[in-house]
Formats: sequence, C-alpha cells, structure tokens
Amino acid sequence: MNAPLPVEVLKQHLIDPEICIRCNTCEETCPVDAITHHSNNYVVDPEICNGCMACVPPCPTGSIDNWRLVVRAEAYSVQDQLGWEELPQEKPLPVDAAAGGEGGQPMPAPQPESGLAQAPAVTAATPGAAVPPWSAAHPYVNLYTHKTPITATVVGNYRVTGADTESDIHHIVLDFGEQPFPVLEGQSIGILPPGVDALGRPHHARQYSLASPRDGERAGYNNLSLTVKRVTQDHGGAAAHGVCSNYLCDLAKNDTVQVIGPFGHTFLMPNHPQANLIMICTGTGSAPMRAMTERSRRLIGTADIGKLMLFFGARTERELPYFGPLMKLPRDFIDINLALSREPGQPKRYVQDLIRERAAHVRGLLADRNTCIYVCGLKGMEVGVLDALRDVVVQSGEDWSILHDALRREGRLHFETY
Ligand code: FAD
Repeated sequence: MNAPLPVEVLKQHLIDPEICIRCNTCEETCPVDAITHHSNNYVVDPEICNGCMACVPPCPTGSIDNWRLVVRAEAYSVQDQLGWEELPQEKPLPVDAAAGGEGGQPMPAPQPESGLAQAPAVTAATPGAAVPPWSAAHPYVNLYTHKTPITATVVGNYRVTGADTESDIHHIVLDFGEQPFPVLEGQSIGILPPGVDALGRPHHARQYSLASPRDGERAGYNNLSLTVKRVTQDHGGAAAHGVCSNYLCDLAKNDTVQVIGPFGHTFLMPNHPQANLIMICTGTGSAPMRAMTERSRRLIGTADIGKLMLFFGARTERELPYFGPLMKLPRDFIDINLALSREPGQPKRYVQDLIRERAAHVRGLLADRNTCIYVCGLKGMEVGVLDALRDVVVQSGEDWSILHDALRREGRLHFETY
C-alpha cells in the first residue's frame, strides 16, 4: 500500500498589526507585489510572497518580520489578515507535515523572527541602502509600542514658515522628563492621535522624523523636536483634514502626547571623522537634515567633521522651514543650495537642477568613500534626484550602476520619502 503523501507546510510571512505603523515601506519595497493594505491592515498574500526578505530590513518597526509554520492548504488568506487586530498564535502542525514548496521544491528560507540583523536585500525596488553607514551609532528601536506608549509633554510649538503662506509647518518640542527615550539623528517616532477612525477603531500611529540631534533639541535635555506640516489637502489637492498633523500643530504648551518608537535603523549619520554629508530635501524632509546638521555643528571644535552640502527645495523662501536659522550657519561649515520653484522674479528651480549645476562639487564628494547621501521629502522626488546623481556621474565617464550598487551596499545612500 502507498504511504500517505506528507502534508505540505508553508513558512507563512505575516505582518504584526499591533506593531505596524502603516508607513507603506513594505508595500513599496516588495519586488513581487505580495504586500497590500486597506484602511485597517497591511498584509502579505501567501500566493505571491516568495520569502525574498527584501521588505524586512527597511521596515522601521520590525512588524514585518513574523512567520508562522502553517499547512499550505490552510494558509491565512489576505481576507483573514485584513480583519486581524493581532497575530494568531502558531498552531501545532500535523505529524505528517513536511516543509516544502510547490512540487516538493524547498521554499526559500526566511529565518523566523529574524529581527533586523538580516543580510540586506538590495533590489531594484529599493533605490537606497538597507544598511546604515559603517560608523553609525547603534540605534534603539521599538522601546515603546502601541500597547506601551510613552507620554511626552509639549514644551514648544511654533510655526516655522511665513504666516502669509499656505504651507503651515510647525516646530514642536516634546519633553520626556525622567523617562528614557534615546534617539539618533535620522530616526523617527510614532504619534498616537487621540480618537477613533470612521470604523470606530483607535487611529493608527503617524510617523515623524526627528528634527533635533541625539542630545536633545536643547543639548543635555531629554527632549526632541519634530517638523510637522499641517495637512489640509490630500495629495491630489482636494480639501482634507489630516488627523495627526492637525492634532500636533494645534497642541499647546504643557499638553501631553502618546509616543511610540523610536523607529529606523538605517537612515543614520556616519560617526567617523571626515565623514561628508550630502543632504537633499524638500519641505518637512528638512527635519532629519536639521538634526544631522545640528549634530555636526555641536561637534565643531571637538571633532574632525567633514563637508556638509545641502540641497533644499521649497516653493518660496517663506515656505522653507527654518529659513532664518539656516542662513545664519557659516558657509565654511555647510554649503547651502536653495531650489525655489515659485519665487517671484526667479526662474523655477528644483533640487535636481541644483545638483546638476553643482556637478563638479557633487562628483568630488561622491568620489570620496566618506560621503553619505540622504534624501528626504515627497515621494515624487526620488526619481528626479536619482536621475540627477546619475547624470553627474555619467558626465565624468563613470558607470552609475556600479557606483549606485556600491552606495547601497555600503550604506551610503538613504531615502526617506512619504
Ligand atoms: P491623514 O489623516 O493620514 O490623511 C489625510 C489625507 O491627506 C489623506 O487623503 C492622505 O492621503 C493625505 N495626506 C497624507 N499625508 C499627506 C501629505 N504629507 N501631504 C498631502 N496629503 C497628505 N510628516 C511631517 O509633517 N513631518 C515629518 O517629519 C514626517 N516624517 C515622516 C517620516 C516617515 C518615515 C513617514 C512614513 C512619514 C512622515 N511624515 C511626516 C508623514 C506623516 O507620517 C503623516 O502621514 C502626515 O502628517 C499626514 O498625517 P495626517 O494624519 O495628518 O493625515
């Protein structure tokens, strides 16, 4: 008599809905489009996921890194996952279960609960690095979660764009008092806005980049700052009331907020002497650049800091957050390039135009392995910036694809766009 066929087992990739902050990074990164979402959850389609791990290193929270051994025929469907409030416990497998993929081929081998120490997956879907620069300090992540948020007190909240402009951007300072909240420049935090969504569920957390350096907005204080744009229109220009950005921009001194995080383990600045920074940003994308610039400024006289080159885009000077303080920085400390697209009487310029105009300097910095590049701002800027960097390199007769791969592999090219 024939022996019964072993039951096929799948190491199913799942996203923890309790930790996920719905930042969309995984969906954008997945090279096979296995990740999808609706208003509640981000989920992985077991029919499509091939366990390639490309999405794991970029996830800022680690919520992506969950795996369950299931009988393939009973894998959790996309529909099941969309309804989850929490991950199911792993069920015992039948005794005759055998791990294997279609047609008895072994599945690619994702490591269960692999944490964030995975070998980085560099794919065409990830223009930036999935590893930090070699000399970055080690970040703390997920110290506080949805279930265990930390309370911070607002100690400052003021507008940093011209009062007569449409762009209402606030500088908000949060103090953590005696509670530990260690952060690094380039990391972000999650804010839990009060109230519930249209389905009666608590609002999900929104992510905001730190605008202050590791030792605080005020050096030596346990505080940090954020740069928050009040969302009054959706991406298509239709009127909209952004839940969290409006909540934050309306906070008064001494109000308290629920914070989770910190998040982010790759968009971090190098720590070694003579490290150069090329910073390319628009709007609130200036937050991490402010943090890195201020970190470097505080090191003047105590460390051998490298060159700082900033490309900063906005419609007008008055819509540029922190314009005044930025322009007061010494020019031998930071090379500032402002790209204004709607300044009356001036030609329209975007950050990519300035990168091309400053090709010789950019090329010189790119040729130095001590240079790291950071891009932050609107999602749409990624392609333009990459094209401009490529043009700068190609003009000098070099191969962009070789340099681009090296920049990603060496943790020297980082994107944070939203
Ligand atoms: P929602 O209530 O979520 O959305 C309302 C409507 O506005 C929706 O239709 C939505 O599609 C649209 N919308 C959402 N965001 C925008 C936007 N930026 N512009 C136009 N329309 C929008 N934001 C900052 O202000 N400062 C930061 O430093 C910052 N850092 C971020 C870092 C990361 C890694 C990520 C993923 C996002 C970051 N964001 C930052 C964006 C932030 O997390 C929120 O998405 C943003 O504040 C809108 O949230 P909301 O609750 O106000 O709007």
